[in-house]
Amino acid sequence: MNGAVFSPALPMILPIRAYGDPVLKKVAQDITPGHSGLKELIDDMYETMYAANGVGLAAPQVGLSIRLFVVDASPFAEDEQGRPVPEHAHLKEFKRVFINPHVEEEEGAEWPFEEGCLSIPNIREEVVRAPKITLRYMDERFNPHRETFDGFAARVVQHETDHLDGKLFIDHLNPMRRRMLQGKLRDISMGKTDAKYKMRFPVKR
Ligand code: ZN
Repeated sequence: MNGAVFSPALPMILPIRAYGDPVLKKVAQDITPGHSGLKELIDDMYETMYAANGVGLAAPQVGLSIRLFVVDASPFAEDEQGRPVPEHAHLKEFKRVFINPHVEEEEGAEWPFEEGCLSIPNIREEVVRAPKITLRYMDERFNPHRETFDGFAARVVQHETDHLDGKLFIDHLNPMRRRMLQGKLRDISMGKTDAKYKMRFPVKR
């Protein structure tokens, strides 16, 4: 018997929206449990994130202005040889879906950490943020959670939540640093990048 007709669609790799796309500047909206195609979208977002070797991916990065992001930092719990990294042991569990996340509070003395973004390939900059963040969100079954993250997990959550508020990591840089990146950013928006994953650019060359 040929069951192919009834098998679920395989996850798809979606093009990642590049810097300059207006969707990246929009404040994303909460979704409701009946949101159409949600499961497929989550599967596609994971597929897209893994194909680009990302740690997190927010819905606006695939063109959807909804409050949803996925993360998987579990590879960081091991080094390149597959040996456990004790100080990153907690990241082994850090694979999840965040729906309708909203920041409750951020605390602690701000610390610098080098960030990058799949929408801004080949640019990495030190960004200063609070070390601890408390978030309200729902999982993929729409169970509510209130949770505090710190260290690298906090950093990922802050970066991805920013995406839902129309903010990019470069928005945290000082004006001078930002000006120095202007040319590179313009190139990215026009598709002048050697990113190794599928992207969609806002400006025609
Ligand atoms: Zn990003």
